[in-house]
Amino acid sequence: MNIQYKSTRDDSKLFSASYAIVKGLAEDGGLFMPDQFPSLEMNLDDLAKLDYKGIAYEVMKLFFTDFTEEELKYCIENAYDSKFDTPEIAPLASIEGAYYLELFHGSTIAFKDMALSILPYLMTVSAKKNNINEEIVILTATSGDTGKAALAGFADVPGTRICVFYPKGGVSVIQEKQMVTQVGKNVKVIGIKGNFDDAQTGVKNIFGDKEFNELINAKGFRFSSANSINIGRLIPQVVYYVYSYCTLLKSGKIEEGDPINFVVPTGNFGNILAGFFAQRIGIPVHKLVCASNDNKVLFDFFNTAVYDRNREFILTSSPSMDILISSNLERLIYLSCGQDASKNASLMNDLKTEGKYSLTEDMKKFIDQLFVGGYASTEMVDDRIKEIYDETGYVMDTHTAVASAVYKKYINDTKDDTTSVIVSTASPYKFTRSVLGAIEGKKSEEEDFVLIDRLNAKSKMPIPKAVEEIRNAAVLHDTVCEISEMKSEIGKFLGL
Ligand SMILES: *Cc1c(COP(=O)(O)O)cnc(C)c1O
Repeated sequence: MNIQYKSTRDDSKLFSASYAIVKGLAEDGGLFMPDQFPSLEMNLDDLAKLDYKGIAYEVMKLFFTDFTEEELKYCIENAYDSKFDTPEIAPLASIEGAYYLELFHGSTIAFKDMALSILPYLMTVSAKKNNINEEIVILTATSGDTGKAALAGFADVPGTRICVFYPKGGVSVIQEKQMVTQVGKNVKVIGIKGNFDDAQTGVKNIFGDKEFNELINAKGFRFSSANSINIGRLIPQVVYYVYSYCTLLKSGKIEEGDPINFVVPTGNFGNILAGFFAQRIGIPVHKLVCASNDNKVLFDFFNTAVYDRNREFILTSSPSMDILISSNLERLIYLSCGQDASKNASLMNDLKTEGKYSLTEDMKKFIDQLFVGGYASTEMVDDRIKEIYDETGYVMDTHTAVASAVYKKYINDTKDDTTSVIVSTASPYKFTRSVLGAIEGKKSEEEDFVLIDRLNAKSKMPIPKAVEEIRNAAVLHDTVCEISEMKSEIGKFLGL
């Protein structure tokens, strides 16, 4: 099956996977989508005999059909290696009857590593395949974790540069320190005076700015995106859904064909959408539970069929989910209206002009087959972290705790006894202040590394290398700019 890609806003043109990866976002502002869904070629029992890399190949080859076996295996080998602190890559922990899929064993201790450790390889191979000779400039807006994972992935990769924008004051101290200490000859990190949505909109506008793109092309550069809208990030995320199903199968926790639930702490809707793709290619899924924090625009969307971003933006203890425009949701909307690009484009235009749109009844029905929305307040998150720690000794981060709290409420409300996997998206060490505050019942004023050492004593979890590395690292990036200055800062970085 030769999968090709279309924009969610224009279905007249087809593109190869490699072209979609280099491009990031379609010219019309839409997102690339496969023109059809392939199916896993192996049965699940056989797939379960493979390791993470083996499963990664079986999944990615279905979608990246213009890559040769050699090219794809080169990308996979280089991505899922000793950068991860366990050969399992994505281990499952069994805690109080549920399974926690730990996606934080990569180099920056958050789930973004799962895709961003492979994207630079997919991107450089894709550029070669499309005879692109310009230097690729990755522009990224981050709510905290993408930035560092993208920087770590692209630092000193030949033929690339990377520029990351983050909301100054809108990320955790550890997240900021991880970014501003990034080494590499081709990297730039900039704080903006605005929130994540401002950063993301700013980057989208630059991608869509024809004149500026022509200017940088003439100087030998070409923009691309490492944000979760890139199909080169979405597809690698499908792998760990398949892998976790296989892990449960292999250990006899489920039998082939048994449906399972995934509970996913959600922001930009990339992670959970990958779960939907996994279902589409053959993983038996009962429900995909979309867990939101106090910025519960998605919870309201699943309940009312109206997406409405006109609301106060709330800074929570799970900053990587502090988002009011979930970009990847556009892909689900597109599918829910039967891949009708003009219908989707008109809804996205409503979102742009009025800040909201409504689903038709058929679209709502399509989405309700699999998706359920839930949300947890900061207080519920704190209670859940403490409860699980007191009862089991397991420590989870604030984002995972949003999912865990939503899961608890979902089980109480529905009595659903389907095997459930809670997607665990960050190491507790990335959000130590909030996590320790929840466990100790009060926020501490002490310095971050004091808290890290105390969490280590309480949890007996080893301190990850990613945290030790920044303990004494020098700050290398201190640029802060207005939203209106993002373009000129890029100009400076590229020496225009
Ligand atoms: C990015 C992130 C999320 C949200 O994932 P989306 O794909 O944007 O929905 C959740 N938790 C953590 C720790 C993250 O870094």
